[in-house]
Amino acid sequence: MTMSDWSAVTRPIPVPNELTRPFWDSARQGVLALQRCQACGAFQHPPYATCVKCMAIDLKFEPVSGKGAIYAYTIMYHAGDRRFAAAIPYASIIVELDDAPGALLAANLLEAPYTEAKVGRRVEVVFEPLNDDITLPQFLLARDTT
Ligand SMILES: [Zn+2]
Repeated sequence: MTMSDWSAVTRPIPVPNELTRPFWDSARQGVLALQRCQACGAFQHPPYATCVKCMAIDLKFEPVSGKGAIYAYTIMYHAGDRRFAAAIPYASIIVELDDAPGALLAANLLEAPYTEAKVGRRVEVVFEPLNDDITLPQFLLARDTT
């Protein structure tokens, strides 16, 4: 099984906004930081102005471990966005992090055949710089299973 060829893909660059800026600033430094409610302790992603669990507005970004498991996945056989054509087929995955249950991160599974994307597979974060400003958190299959 061949791996998706991401080398020929020019990714769209995410544009940070007021809510997501701390997430991108941390990622650029190789740290995964997610928004956490300081009232009830729940993590959430993507960031919102209020806690989706308790509606509190006291939210802070806290670093989390990059370890987690595939929560859901989609195998992309067609490029809705032509920029991704070179990587077809590839796995788009939703990851739930060990430290932040309930917060779901969308990413790609890199350096593995798309057939390796299975619900429950252990993954760990890797940081893919797109430019000087934006570094995209992506995932690899975990080297160990802990
Ligand atoms: Zn809350």
